[in-house]
Amino acid sequence: MPEDLSMSPLSSCRRVVLKLGTNILRLGDGTVNEERMAAVGKAVDNMRRAGIEIVIVSSGAIGLGMGKLGLEKRPSRVTELQACAAIGQTILMQTWQRSFEPFGTTVAQVLLTREDVRGRKRHLAVHDTLDRLLALGVVPIINENDTVSSDEIKFGDNDILSALVASLVKADLLAILSTAPGLIDREGTGQIVPVVHEITPQIRAMAGGSETSTSVGGMVTKLDAARLATTSGCTVFIGSGFDPAIVADMLKGKAVGTYFPAKDKGIDSRKRWIAFFESPQGTILTDTGAMKAVLEDGSSLLPKGVTGVDGNFEAGAVVNIRNNGDTFARGISSFSSAELLQVLGRDSDAIRQIFSGRKHCEAVHRDSLVLLQ
Ligand code: GLU
Repeated sequence: MPEDLSMSPLSSCRRVVLKLGTNILRLGDGTVNEERMAAVGKAVDNMRRAGIEIVIVSSGAIGLGMGKLGLEKRPSRVTELQACAAIGQTILMQTWQRSFEPFGTTVAQVLLTREDVRGRKRHLAVHDTLDRLLALGVVPIINENDTVSSDEIKFGDNDILSALVASLVKADLLAILSTAPGLIDREGTGQIVPVVHEITPQIRAMAGGSETSTSVGGMVTKLDAARLATTSGCTVFIGSGFDPAIVADMLKGKAVGTYFPAKDKGIDSRKRWIAFFESPQGTILTDTGAMKAVLEDGSSLLPKGVTGVDGNFEAGAVVNIRNNGDTFARGISSFSSAELLQVLGRDSDAIRQIFSGRKHCEAVHRDSLVLLQ
């Protein structure tokens, strides 16, 4: 039996992101699983009646496009995948619309690329739109904009996308429903692990990567998604999507599957953006004393402990912070890479002599710094 989570913040959960995998929404012959999507519509309606706001992250565009074109194997060419997604996405949305119609619920299609949540301005715009849709009582249905996503801007897969969305809308719970019934302890008990408090190397070892002919993403990416979401203060549930009624049990903390309880309060929205959304423009290298001060004493990173930089970046760029090959933090650099090379190893007085009138001399201020371990 799963550990009883009914007394946890789950019982007061108000915002849920529901991620559904391709093989839950598509039948073996490549057509859409109308019956299951109707059942999701009903389960979501029950949750909404209980006052819970729902965002759906729906896979299936490529798989349904493949079905429409009669392709059995996932194409390897990007343009072909993009064409499949363009075809399948309309089938997906039409079916979602039909699934929610009996409940008088309006759905909205939101297609995102990496770029849309990266820059701070667009990131906030996506957040505001999703917030507005939820305030209007609409169910946003999100997918990656596969038709325009090229390799370097891809989220990777919808598990990561769903975790980023959960972080962006500050969801209380992210449910990843797929053909995987949870994290299975294959080498040990052979059973589903009911609760994972910490994603340790042993937990990682239980997850084998998987890629089927229609979809991507296996347990490894689900664990990455769980780490991202729990750090953002969102509890994660990984379970089977074969019977969407699972969401009722899931909210009671009693569903069969794997729960990953949220880390305490999680980090605030600006820090979530620094940690997970913006891609680092370079790296600041530090000595061990500086790393300890940042990790153990809650200090800012001072130029005195900086030993070098990697890459060219402007002041205000998001950068990784590394000691001996170990990236232990990420933050916004107050100096450009060229300026840092001038001030590294120096104390504040010396820096003020170089940049006269400069008030703040931290390389990365604590308020703009997120620990990655
Ligand atoms: N965006 C892809 C699709 O709609 C799904 C990717 C995934 O399954 O993770 O087909």
